[in-house]
Amino acid sequence: MAQLSAILKQATGVVAARGEGVYLYDEDDRRYLDFTAGIGVTSTGHCHPKIVEAAQKQVATLIHGQYTTVMHRPLLTLVDRLGEVLPEGLDRMFFANSGSEAIEAALRLVRQATGRPNIITFHGGFHGRTVAAASLTSSGTKFRSGFAPLMAGVHVAPFPNPTHYGWSVEQATDFALKELDYLLQTLSAPNDTAAFFVEPVLGEGGYVPGNTRFFAGLRERADQYGIQLVVDEVQTGWGRTGKFWGEDHFDLKPDVLVTAKGLASGFPLSGIAASSELMAKAWPGSQGGTYGANAVACAAAIATLDVIEEEKLVENSAARGAELKDALAKVAADHPQITDVRGLGLLIGNEFRDADGNPDGKTASAAQQEAARRGLLLLTCGPWGEVVRFIPALVLDSDQVNEAARIWGEAVAAVTS
Ligand code: PMP
Repeated sequence: MAQLSAILKQATGVVAARGEGVYLYDEDDRRYLDFTAGIGVTSTGHCHPKIVEAAQKQVATLIHGQYTTVMHRPLLTLVDRLGEVLPEGLDRMFFANSGSEAIEAALRLVRQATGRPNIITFHGGFHGRTVAAASLTSSGTKFRSGFAPLMAGVHVAPFPNPTHYGWSVEQATDFALKELDYLLQTLSAPNDTAAFFVEPVLGEGGYVPGNTRFFAGLRERADQYGIQLVVDEVQTGWGRTGKFWGEDHFDLKPDVLVTAKGLASGFPLSGIAASSELMAKAWPGSQGGTYGANAVACAAAIATLDVIEEEKLVENSAARGAELKDALAKVAADHPQITDVRGLGLLIGNEFRDADGNPDGKTASAAQQEAARRGLLLLTCGPWGEVVRFIPALVLDSDQVNEAARIWGEAVAAVTS
């Protein structure tokens, strides 16, 4: 009998048998409030009837219309429909399967388009696990260790992370922009720098939102030097933050937008969007793949867009997110171990620190495990695993917010008393 390798680690011991909306059921039919949503993927809830219907219909029509061989209607319709939600001017798309692959597609695009070798990323950023994506990742050594040498040509600048530095947002932003200029002057000359890769909110790095002035600073330098601004919306897109894109909070205009996760409600699909001018500078036919833009995944993505619009899920993410953040702040007020509750929409992190003010991954993990035992599934993030994150499906209602906050309060009390 074969077994799963220990290189795959799970955050909970649950064996999921079925899912419905915000709930997962295990093989004994025990119900869990799923505030992980497959790491922010199943934003329309598990097995939303409209997604199921669209996927089932597509399965019976055409499963795999390999896109470097033939075109298929779900892909063409999806591209057309994405025009409704993509930032103005970003109207050329390329599709792949995972976030990491889309990051690599963006990398190939900006290097080909600029002819420049280097990339600047921001400390705490997570962009994936393949060699190139891991090379751009600085949210934890666990994503890099034992895997070196990684790709050359990557430089890491500070992200304005107020809680990490113990500074105000203004101070952290001044520092980050000053260090970026220093880096461009001392390590990676603008003429050697193809792109900045940045998340609107650090995801795996601890649920740390960026800010408008910082992103304006990146935009300004990108425009000045012809550096491409690649915004990684893999975790923050599709309504997750209470606006359609995370960048919408910060008036941030990317040159390349990278999307995945919430895009197809659980089917593997990712993509990049850029202007026709930028895409025209890359080499035609230089990107492809066997499974990219799978027909069933594209049909599910079209249905996902419909559901988001019909059920006003972006608005619901903002409204339920505000309720959830309030409720979690109340739990934190009773427990000094939780030193910060932060995030946007339904992407909320609870940071744990010990009595000396150091990141406390041990207590965060104990609280996450205890919540799972009590029927609430959560994940951790942050370099030390010190943040417990809440990323439920956007179909969440107020009763589910209250139930989750109650279980969370009890779980935290149980592990800190
Ligand atoms: N970028 C971001 C911001 C992510 O959160 C993730 C996944 N957590 C990725 C890229 C990589 O996506 P995938 O796991 O699908 O390769």
